[in-house]
Amino acid sequence: MISKNEISNYLSNVFKTRRTNAKLKAEQNLNDALKNEKFKKSFYLVRSLQFDLSKLNENTPEAKKLEQQIEKEKVELNKQLKICGFSKEDLKPHYICKKCCDTGFVDGKKCSCYKAEQNKIYLTECGINKSSLPKFSQVNFEIFGNNKTEIKKIYDLAKSFVDKFNETTKQNIIIVGNTGVGKTYLTECLLNEAINNDIFSIYTTAFNLNQTFLKYHIAKFENKQEIIEPYLSCDLLIIDDLGSETKLNNVTIEYLYLILNERARNNLKTIVTTNLSPEQIQLVYEDRVFSRLFNKQIGIVLQMPGDDLRFKKQA
Ligand SMILES: [Zn+2]
Repeated sequence: MISKNEISNYLSNVFKTRRTNAKLKAEQNLNDALKNEKFKKSFYLVRSLQFDLSKLNENTPEAKKLEQQIEKEKVELNKQLKICGFSKEDLKPHYICKKCCDTGFVDGKKCSCYKAEQNKIYLTECGINKSSLPKFSQVNFEIFGNNKTEIKKIYDLAKSFVDKFNETTKQNIIIVGNTGVGKTYLTECLLNEAINNDIFSIYTTAFNLNQTFLKYHIAKFENKQEIIEPYLSCDLLIIDDLGSETKLNNVTIEYLYLILNERARNNLKTIVTTNLSPEQIQLVYEDRVFSRLFNKQIGIVLQMPGDDLRFKKQA
């Protein structure tokens, strides 16, 4: 798994290469044109006249005269350039993005082209095996029938958690509800929103996370950190379907708590979905995990309505 820093370094190289390529192409065209003696003569004449002009004071009669001469010589230069098979534009670097000239930044902020590249990588690296994710704006709440108003409220709450990611004091969301009530879809919308909001996110099923815990548990000391690090350091961790994994002694609960606790300590946010009721979570994952997830001071509990909801009241 790649880290946020590695992605940033990678992108920085991608954009540097784009700039270099654009400049190289322009230089290459000029060098090709300079192979033509008439163009070469005209080119260096204009250059030397421009140099002379730079030594003169602006708006003096001499300067004006020289400017006129340069313009005249430029006409000849362009004529020769055309004969060589090039246009004026061919001698300028052509950047893929005109807004940022392939620097990736405009006024110190990430350019839309940079964000598009970043989003692609964030999606590839986030752990969900999908080429695209649903948007909140695309959700058709009609499919939820009588529950649509309540579900819409839950979707709005979840979305605002991600939209106010850096301002909210809440550290986690737990989405509770039975299979088929739209938890997974909501999770995918959240992941998409997060990626679009510049939030480096990792999605994992509880099953896969548990496998990672096991790997961590049996790994040599020097290899341990590398295994767990992505889950500790990503801006947002989404653990889907908590309760679907097989509980392993000294592994599942211990490392889940470690992850939740470390993330909370570093003010990093976590979203968990589960089919289990709060009571079942408390029973299976013990008080420490339960209190991390269901403490309303630090988290938001979203209960998705649905016919087969296994819980009756929130803890
Ligand atoms: Zn750009």
